[in-house]
Amino acid sequence: MGFRLSCWSPRPRMQADPKSQSHSPGAGSDPARASGRSAEIITIGTELLLGQLVDTNTPAIAAELAENGIDVYRTCSVGDNRVRIAEAVREAASRADAVMCAGGLGPTVDDVTRDAIADVAGVALLRDERVADDLRRYFAGLGRTMSANNERQALFPAGAIILENPHGTAPGFALDVGSAIVIALPGPPRELLPMLREKAVPLLRSRWNLAAAIVSRIIRTAGVSESEIDRRIDDLFRSAENPSIAVLTHDGEVIVKVTGKAATAEDARSLCDGLVAQLVARLGECVYSTDGASLPETVGRCLRERGLTLAAAESCTGGLVGALVTSVAGASDYFRGSIVAYGNRAKTQLLDVAPPLIERHGAVSAEVAAAMAEGAKAALEASLAVAVTGIAGPSGGTQDKPVGLVYVALVGEDHTCTVQRLQLPGARDMVQRRAALAALLLVLRTCREKRTGG
Ligand code: ATP
Ligand code: MG
Repeated sequence: MGFRLSCWSPRPRMQADPKSQSHSPGAGSDPARASGRSAEIITIGTELLLGQLVDTNTPAIAAELAENGIDVYRTCSVGDNRVRIAEAVREAASRADAVMCAGGLGPTVDDVTRDAIADVAGVALLRDERVADDLRRYFAGLGRTMSANNERQALFPAGAIILENPHGTAPGFALDVGSAIVIALPGPPRELLPMLREKAVPLLRSRWNLAAAIVSRIIRTAGVSESEIDRRIDDLFRSAENPSIAVLTHDGEVIVKVTGKAATAEDARSLCDGLVAQLVARLGECVYSTDGASLPETVGRCLRERGLTLAAAESCTGGLVGALVTSVAGASDYFRGSIVAYGNRAKTQLLDVAPPLIERHGAVSAEVAAAMAEGAKAALEASLAVAVTGIAGPSGGTQDKPVGLVYVALVGEDHTCTVQRLQLPGARDMVQRRAALAALLLVLRTCREKRTGG
C-alpha cells in the first residue's frame, strides 16, 4: 500500500550535504550511486508569493527526483512575470542539469512560463497543430468554441518536446537550454503529478541513461517520538548510503523509509531487506508494519486472523478510534462499535461506570479508563475492548493532571486489564490523534500476543 511522500514532512536533517557530492556529468556509471545529475525547481505563480497558495509542487517534484537519484540543489518561487521567470530559468539552467518549472502554462494573460522559457532559449513560440486540434475538439465536446486565449496553449518554444496532459488542457514541454534541459509542467497538482511521473522523469531517465532500479521499503511506527527513533537508529542512519534511510513524520506517526538502488529491482530489494531487518530489531515494539499498511489496516488484519472482535469506549477522542478502525473496508468483520461517552453521565449510563469511581479518581484516571473498557466489552459483547480518557486541552489541565494526560485501557478476553498512562504532546487535535493511535497500538500488541483462534 503506497502513501504520498508529499504528505509527510521530512525531518530537517539531511543525511549528507548534497552540495558536497559529485556534480560531474556522466558520474552515474555506478548504478548504486546517485546519478550525478542535478536539478533545480522553480514554482511559478504570484499567489505563491502572496501567501495565498501553499506550494505543494516543490516537495512533490523534489521527492520524485530524489527517488530517481537526481539531486536537487536549489528551489525557488517566482511570480507571474515574464522577465523574472526568464531570469530564474537562465540562472538555474547555468547551474543544473535539469530545471523543473511548475505553473503558468494556462490560457490566461498571466500564464507566461512558455514565453519566458522561449526568451531564455532565444527561440520563437510555434503553434503545434496537433495540440491545437486536440484543444478545439476538447472545447467542441463541451459545446464551446475555443477562445484566442486557449489557442496560446498550443504554442511551444521551437524545438520543444511536448508532454501530453491527459488531465487538463495545458500540455507541458521540455526544451534544451544550453547544457540543461528545462521542463515546464502545469501548476495544478492533479495535472502536474501524473505528467511528472509518467512523462518528465522517464524523459530524464532515458536521456541520462539512468539504469538503476530504485526500491523503497517503509517501516511504520507509532507511539514513539521522532527523537527516540533517532536515538535508536542514529548510527545506522549516519552510515547508511545505499540503501539510504529517511525519517519522515506525519500526523503523530513516524515512518522510516529505506531506499536502495541497484542494477535490478530484485537486487535493490534484497539490499533493502537486510537493513529493514536491522532497523526493525532496533526499533522494537513501536513498529507496526513494514509493508506500508496503516495502523487501522494492520489492527484489522490481526483481529481478523485471530478471530477476535473489538469494541471501544471513547472520551477525549470523541469517536476518533472508531473512525480510524472503520476507515478500513470490511471492518464490520471484527469491529463491534465505539461508544462515545464524553460526559460523566454518559460514562455511567452507557458504560456502567460507577459514579463513586469517577468521584474518587476523576474521569481522567486509570480506574475510570479500565471501567470504561469493561463497560464497552460488556455492552458490545466483544472479545477485546479499548478505552481512552484524557485531557486534550487547551484548557482543563491541572498540576496533577496536565493537558495531554491520557489513559488508555484494554480489557482482554479473560478480563485482564492493561492500562497505559501517557503524556502526549501537541495541540488538542494532535493529542486526540496520538491518543487514538495509542489505543490502536495497544489493541495490536494485545492481539499479536494471542495465538491464532485463542
Ligand atoms: P491553469 O491552466 O490551471 O491556469 P497553470 O499551469 O497556468 O494551470 P497556475 O495558473 O500557475 O497553473 O496555477 C493554477 C492552479 O494550480 C493554482 O491556482 C493552484 O490551485 C494550483 N497550483 C499552482 N502552483 C501550485 C503549487 N506550487 N503548489 C500547489 N498548487 C499549485
Ligand atoms: Mg494559470
